[in-house]
Amino acid sequence: MKTEQYRVTGGKKVILKEYPTSAEQSLDKDKVISSLMPENIRKMAGLQEKLYAENTRSLLIVLQAMDAAGKDGVIRHVMTGLNPQGTQVVSFKVPSSEENDHDYLWRIVKALPRRGEIGIFNRSHYEEVLVSRVHDLVRGSQLPPELVTEDIWQKRYRQIRDFERYLTENGTRIIKIYLHVSKQEQRQRLLDRINEPEKNWKFSSGDIQERRQWKKYQDAYEQMLEHTASPDAPWFIVPADNKWFARYLVSQIVLDTLKEMDPKIPELPESEKTMLQECREILEKDE
Ligand code: ATP
Ligand code: MG
Repeated sequence: MKTEQYRVTGGKKVILKEYPTSAEQSLDKDKVISSLMPENIRKMAGLQEKLYAENTRSLLIVLQAMDAAGKDGVIRHVMTGLNPQGTQVVSFKVPSSEENDHDYLWRIVKALPRRGEIGIFNRSHYEEVLVSRVHDLVRGSQLPPELVTEDIWQKRYRQIRDFERYLTENGTRIIKIYLHVSKQEQRQRLLDRINEPEKNWKFSSGDIQERRQWKKYQDAYEQMLEHTASPDAPWFIVPADNKWFARYLVSQIVLDTLKEMDPKIPELPESEKTMLQECREILEKDE
């Protein structure tokens, strides 16, 4: 499947209404679930092993979305089949008081994947230009008041771009996924969480408060997408009303990225090869 049409590389205004929230018509759901998705996962696992062996680069996948858009399901489905050693998922919640005692990238830096690893951020530093913007959380925060200027969001976009370029230039490949769910579909999923007892635990009354700010969030997402997408660290606007499609598209995006990275099992230097040869001879003579 082609993924370019969902990719945003920056510099252009983003109007979310113009991006689809539902699956491509031409795709067969049963085929995706029974063969295309497992095939992608199998290929990803092979490339992951090489990335791990290479031990020089890492892949960071940032996931952002409105509530109930399906972040957890994407993580579960895309990560099955990968080697847990070499993969880590970090969920970012409301910052703790220790985290608030630092700049906002402090906790992000600590959670970055090591070389050789694939890291997934379930929410991320982008909350600092989303929830923080919608609820104006910087005012009254520990940030020195004179730094809370009118252009604070523009400054943050720049800081995030600089931060991501720094990471890219030091061996971390970054892709950012926005799960684009429609307001109607979110309503249905939140209702399901209330109506189906086994889903009750997922429901949080706070989700209703956030839903009331839908328009403000969409505006904040549009600005963020426009100002923080770049060719090196693109955003993908993934239609999320059909879970099977969102999961498959994300697997395709991750697979394409790993293919582009083209990790290779390192070749041993000659001296090491000779050493292996010697060891083989010793073992073969052994009982
Ligand atoms: P679920 O789908 O299970 O509800 P979730 O990602 O929404 O998953 P929650 O524990 O419900 O997890 O919510 C985490 C909350 O933390 C979100 O409301 C998010 O906006 C908030 N949050 C994350 N980072 C920040 C931040 N930097 N500043 C303020 N709030 C933040
Ligand atoms: Mg939540």
